[in-house]
Amino acid sequence: MSNAILVVGGGFSGLTAAIEAAELGHDVYIVEKSPWLGGRVAQLNKYFPKLCPPSCGLEIQFQRIRKNPRIKCLTMAEVTGLTGRKGDYSVRVRLSPRRTAPHNVDFSLLASSLEGETPSEFDLGLSKRKGLYKAMPFAFPGRYVLDPSTLSKSDAARVAGNKFLNLTEKEHEIELNVGAIVVATGWKPYDVTRLTNLGAGSVKNCISNMQMERLASAFGPTGGRIVRPSDGRAPHTVAFVQCAGSRDQNHLNYCSYICCMASLKQCLYIAEQNPDTLITVYYIDLRAPGRYVNVLEKVKALPNVRFVKGKVADAVQADGDKVRVTVEDAVRGEKLTLDYDLVVLATGMQPSLAGENPPLPLPLDEDGFIAGGEEAGIFAAGCARMPLDVTRSAQSGTAAALKAVQTVKGR
Ligand code: SF4
Repeated sequence: MSNAILVVGGGFSGLTAAIEAAELGHDVYIVEKSPWLGGRVAQLNKYFPKLCPPSCGLEIQFQRIRKNPRIKCLTMAEVTGLTGRKGDYSVRVRLSPRRTAPHNVDFSLLASSLEGETPSEFDLGLSKRKGLYKAMPFAFPGRYVLDPSTLSKSDAARVAGNKFLNLTEKEHEIELNVGAIVVATGWKPYDVTRLTNLGAGSVKNCISNMQMERLASAFGPTGGRIVRPSDGRAPHTVAFVQCAGSRDQNHLNYCSYICCMASLKQCLYIAEQNPDTLITVYYIDLRAPGRYVNVLEKVKALPNVRFVKGKVADAVQADGDKVRVTVEDAVRGEKLTLDYDLVVLATGMQPSLAGENPPLPLPLDEDGFIAGGEEAGIFAAGCARMPLDVTRSAQSGTAAALKAVQTVKGR
C-alpha cells in the first residue's frame, strides 16, 4: 500500500493538485509529457482573472515545488502502463532523453550559433527553434533540450564532445508505486486546419487565438508586437470569428467556455498597442460569466471595437494579403463581405485525451473528457474534465488532490 500520489500533467491544475497533496504530507510524482511545466498557461501573454503574465502565477507554483522535497517532477515522461488497484498501483513511466546535463547549464550562446531549425511547437509555428532549445525564459525546469533531428551536420560537430551534452542518452522506463492518481492532462487547441471554410492553415493572416497569444507575448516570435505574419506590419483592421469550431456538431459539439473571454482580452491587447486599429467581433452569443461581465462592458466601451451578431460563413484570401470574410448579420438581416488585415479564429478547447488511447483505465465521454474513474482512486482535474478557465482549473486541481489524499489517508 502506498500513500504517494501520481499527478499526470504539469499544467495549472496538475501543479495545484501536486502542491496541495504534497503540502498535506504526501509524496507526489508529477509526470509531464513536455520538457517543462506550466501547460497551456505558459503559452499565454496574460491570463484571467487579473490579466497577469504567466511567469507571475507560475513562478509562485514553481517556488512551492522547489521548496518541497516531497514533489518529484518527471518531464518528457509518459505513463505507459498501470497495474494494481486503488491504494496500491504500480505505474510504468517512459522517460524520453533530454540529452542535457541535470543542472541548469546556460546553453544560450551555443544554441544561437547552431544552423538547423524547425517550426517551434511552443510558438505554434510562428517562429523557428534550434536543435538545442528552451521554450521560454522562465521555463521550469530551467534545462535545455537537445533534439538531434534538428541539428545540421556542422551543428552535430559543434555539439559533439560538449561535456554537458549527451547525444547517446536513450529513453528508459521506471516504475512508481502510488495509492491514488490525479489526471490533469489538460486540453489542446482544436485543429484549425479542419475549419477549411474559415481559411485556417491556408489563408495568410488568418490565425488562431492561441497564435495571437504568442504574437502578443514579450517572449513570443515578435517580441510582443501584434503584426500580420505575412509582412510583419501592424494590422489596421482585425476581425475575431467566435465559436470557430465550437458549438458545431461537425466539430466540437459544446461551448468551449474560454474563447469569448480570450477574444475580449485580445481586443484589449490590440487597443493598448494601437488604439486606431478597427476591430470587429463576429459572434453568435457572447459569454462573459460572473464578474467577467465587467471586461465585456470595458471592451464594448472602446471606440474602435464593434460587435456584430452573425455566424461567419467563410474566410478566403483577398488582394494585398487581406482576408475576405463573409457573414450574415443576424440583426440587420444582411449579408456582409468585408476585407481585414488580420483574422483571429476563436478556436475552442478539446481535451488532450480526445482521439488518444490513454494507458489508464478511464471512461471518456463522446468528446474525450474524463467521465468517471473515481471508484478506482483516479481523479480527473481541470480541462481533462470539462472546459474551464485558469481559476476554475486550479480549484478543480485542489478538489482532485483532496479526493486523492482521502483515498490514501492512513494507508
Ligand atoms: Fe462560442 Fe464564446 Fe462559447 Fe467560445 S465561449 S464556444 S466563442 S460562445
